[in-house]
Amino acid sequence: MPVYNAPTKDMQFVLHEVLNVSGSDIPGYSELEPDFTGAVLEEAGKVATNVLHPLNTIGDTEGCRLENGVVYTPTGFKDAFGQMKEGGWTGLDMPEEFGGQNMPYVIGSAVAEMFSASNQAFTMYQGLTHGAASAILAHGTQEQKETYLPNMVSCDWTGTMNLTEPHCGTDLGLMRTKAEPQADGSYKISGQKIFISAGEHDMADNIIHLVLAKIVGGPEGIKGVSLFIVPKFMVNEDGSLGERNGVSVGNIEEKMGIHGNSTCVMNYDEATGYLLGEEHKGMRAMFTMMNEARMGVAMQGLSQADAAYQNAVEYAKDRLQGRDVTGAKNPDGPADPLIVHPDIRRSLMDQKSFTEGARAFVLWGATMIDKAHRSGDDDADGLISLLTPVLKGFLTDEGYDMTVKAQQVYGGHGYIEEWGMSQYTRDARIAMIYEGANGVQALDLVGRKLAQDGGKHVMAFFEMVKNFCKENAGQNEAYDTAFIEPLKAASKDLQAAAMYFMQSGTKNPNHALAGSNDFMHMFGHVCLGLMWAQMAKASYAALEAGTSDTEFYETKITTGQFYMARRLPATSLHLTRIQSGADTVMGLDAASF
Ligand SMILES: Cc1cc2nc3c(=O)[nH]c(=O)nc-3n(C[C@H](O)[C@H](O)[C@H](O)COP(=O)(O)OP(=O)(O)OC[C@H]3O[C@@H](n4cnc5c(N)ncnc54)[C@H](O)[C@@H]3O)c2cc1C
Repeated sequence: MPVYNAPTKDMQFVLHEVLNVSGSDIPGYSELEPDFTGAVLEEAGKVATNVLHPLNTIGDTEGCRLENGVVYTPTGFKDAFGQMKEGGWTGLDMPEEFGGQNMPYVIGSAVAEMFSASNQAFTMYQGLTHGAASAILAHGTQEQKETYLPNMVSCDWTGTMNLTEPHCGTDLGLMRTKAEPQADGSYKISGQKIFISAGEHDMADNIIHLVLAKIVGGPEGIKGVSLFIVPKFMVNEDGSLGERNGVSVGNIEEKMGIHGNSTCVMNYDEATGYLLGEEHKGMRAMFTMMNEARMGVAMQGLSQADAAYQNAVEYAKDRLQGRDVTGAKNPDGPADPLIVHPDIRRSLMDQKSFTEGARAFVLWGATMIDKAHRSGDDDADGLISLLTPVLKGFLTDEGYDMTVKAQQVYGGHGYIEEWGMSQYTRDARIAMIYEGANGVQALDLVGRKLAQDGGKHVMAFFEMVKNFCKENAGQNEAYDTAFIEPLKAASKDLQAAAMYFMQSGTKNPNHALAGSNDFMHMFGHVCLGLMWAQMAKASYAALEAGTSDTEFYETKITTGQFYMARRLPATSLHLTRIQSGADTVMGLDAASF
């Protein structure tokens, strides 16, 4: 069975030595002293390793089953869900007035990484509920908040998001689910949604579906889409549960991974729904949920990569194959462990430098979300809006690649099910697809986010990197050579790509869109390069201050050097591809394929 160790030490390093959270003026951050965050992370780590991780393989092998309209989750899930609720893990960053603990989002993110790494399928039930609750919090009336939030924050009721229909995935303007206004102000919702995660299951008393539908007689296309709250059981005025609403599960999907999460076909048959937010502004309201969900999915890329990596390291140290070409490292044994071989090292360093860089990127992104929400900082809001597709697209593409690399370390043993490595690749794969497939994330980045507010946010990003380089250069030659110079070069590539889009995109938009995937990836690399430059800076500072834990900080610096030398230069290839434009990409007629 695979192992999982909670990376609390690394999280503490990022939170306190890199991001200096307790020194920040974001409301609520002064309480985030190292002892406090350490205690929360340690406890969360125990839940992840002792409760959720042992159920990961069970969830994968058993999956969910549908019987007479009821979806049964795998053995142990219901009990574990109860433990999550009792432990107060469901509403960490939710407001106290609805039963939450009002902690900053950054703490919720760190905890969520461990839960997702130990059991992604299980954690999705809670994650979707959190997203639905956030949408009600942001767009609901006071009455809606009071009716639904306390039970959703506690996860006595769970939540879902319903966008996808059989003929309509990315292009939501094609949606057919309709909403007919009723005299009492409610709506009758009719239509079919597919692929609905946690659409039906046996772990909650009620399920609150957030459903996109078109109000009859409203505008055509995406402008006619509104968002509705559709409870599985109607909620009486006194808060008790009433009759069953007209929503039912039609089927559950057989799928490649996340078997422990029920992916449902949901049928709405004149189900009673209540408008959430304004008429025809459903996408705006749903985006609250989707942006949060995209951060959560970015986290899944990181979490599956880390869990897989941890196992690959164990295996590489244990499995004896071949000899070190520079001299035997295990002369008394029949062979040396895999970890002596440079190609295995390369793979492990790819994985290690990705997961640690990605962790810093996600936690830094979470501080931007806190800054936007808790301090009302519009610049932080603009920056995280720009970077959300980068976080989602880059971290899940790369995260999946890393699970494949981890699997590869096992050779054939990674491919058979016995060692549990294929589950990481199978589970990680979906993160590249849902919450907007990664091609669409790249489109969003290049087609919308780059030019948002006159390009102000991307300029702010470049300025941030430039200032970091300026402020930190010239103090330590080794640091300048290994970190500052590569970061400057990569950022220059990114700027050149943005400039190319500006110049060529107006002539032919295909030039920009043909390079969108490359741009998203080069942006991701620059972000991780910046994170590594910050982590290395903190590590040099700790070493200079005479830390006793030299191994931790030296390891950080070496890992960062690897990223800057071996991964970050990918920006140059991405730029070359981008600057070749759309001509070779679009050169063939569709009939020639
Ligand atoms: C396990 C699982 C769980 C899911 N959970 C949910 C859920 O809880 N709620 C929910 O509503 N949905 C859910 N989904 C649906 C998921 O979000 C969609 O599958 C996804 O949005 C893509 O839609 P599609 O499958 O129809 O693909 P399509 O929209 O048909 O796209 C196919 C491909 O074309 C690309 N593409 C499409 N348009 C463009 C364009 N303009 N430019 C460039 N490329 C483009 C896409 O990137 C994609 O690679 C889930 C799906 C799965 C498999």
